[in-house]
Amino acid sequence: MTLIQRTDCSALDAADPLAALRKQFVLPDGAIYLDGNSLGALPRATAARVQQVIADEWGQGLIRSWNTAGWIGLPQRVGDKIARLVGAAPNELVVTDSTSINLYKVLSAALSIARIDAPQRRVIVSERENFPTDLYIAQSLAAQYGARLELVEQGQAASRLGDDVAVLLLTQVNYRSGALHDMAAVTAAAHAAGALTVWDLAHSAGAVPVDLNGAQADFAIGCGYKYLNGGPGAPAFVWVHARHVDRVQQPLSGWHGHAAPFVFTPDYQPAQGIARYLCGTPTLLSLAALECGVDTVLAAEPLGGMAALRRKSLALSDLFIRLVQQQLGAHPVTIATPIEPERRGSQVSLTFDGDGYALIQALIDRGVIGDFRAGDSAHGDPDLLRFGFTPLYLRFVDVFDAVQALREVLDRGIWREARHARKAAVT
Ligand SMILES: *Cc1c(COP(=O)(O)O)cnc(C)c1O
Repeated sequence: MTLIQRTDCSALDAADPLAALRKQFVLPDGAIYLDGNSLGALPRATAARVQQVIADEWGQGLIRSWNTAGWIGLPQRVGDKIARLVGAAPNELVVTDSTSINLYKVLSAALSIARIDAPQRRVIVSERENFPTDLYIAQSLAAQYGARLELVEQGQAASRLGDDVAVLLLTQVNYRSGALHDMAAVTAAAHAAGALTVWDLAHSAGAVPVDLNGAQADFAIGCGYKYLNGGPGAPAFVWVHARHVDRVQQPLSGWHGHAAPFVFTPDYQPAQGIARYLCGTPTLLSLAALECGVDTVLAAEPLGGMAALRRKSLALSDLFIRLVQQQLGAHPVTIATPIEPERRGSQVSLTFDGDGYALIQALIDRGVIGDFRAGDSAHGDPDLLRFGFTPLYLRFVDVFDAVQALREVLDRGIWREARHARKAAVT
């Protein structure tokens, strides 16, 4: 195996058709940002756009801006843009609320449909290592619907399907391991077994090509602040397949989901279509910022779109894996993400037989920003070091330099310094 050199990586950057997209972002000097899977980087356009919304649309336009600046249509307008990234049609997807809240709406709708079509089905199946908020929301709804949440190990959901299963709730790319589900295959298996699917796209939207309609998925939700670069706390999105959208009401029947919100009648009447999944007044400033973030992803469309982003994302994560194999062999570090490209999303996780938290802190200290996720030791899950590879703004040399930094921190035992072991409030 010939050793990969930094010059090989610069050559890859020089030949990268997506290299110019990096200019869309404000990135701090001296930092290599490998955490776009948790919080996307700041687009250059965002500050000016939010300032314009504040100074002109709010400051001058005041309440008139709901009409004159198109505020009222923003959840749908940004929704239509995200739809292009996830295989949804126009008017099928809206931006609203948070991922957790949207999950509450769609999982409740799925359980309502199951109650009508197959009342004997009382089980929600999900994965034990799914993101905790998804499991917490499912626990709450299971209690309300007299259903039961059953958790299986990663990749085992299809084998749990049966005539008692109402809903399969899966996150397409696992937040810990970065393992990627084949949405079309899993959805087909669920449907063949009579179950509905709810897909969480938090780590997929803007990271991997998604084809919701092509996969015949039933419900989907996703996050605005990860690969869509919408900014901290950006609103999330929700999609429902056309065959289900008008069948049941979602439970958070707020006025923006009403058929005629500005008629102000005392009785709730859901809007037709995905608008019924809105609840209250949209968070306009955050929504304006999210639109700038989504635009950074759409900027890849003339260059090959999500397929081209996926190619580069895999090339980056593949380079990282090969460098870890070549450079870190002397250290107790293992790759916890599937090596097969078709089985991983846009992140690579490592395990470390040592203090992984301190290792990440020592790396961050050198400007290489990844993150740490503690494993559930009761189940023998390892602690993980996570590295996200966002093809919009990462260079191949960044990957090289990040692994060099990791090697140095390990070779010199820098992670053992006491200051790196202190835990902050957010890990
Ligand atoms: C990031 C993430 C969330 C976040 O939910 P919020 O409501 O925005 O806090 C939910 N689910 C998954 C799978 C995630 O990765």
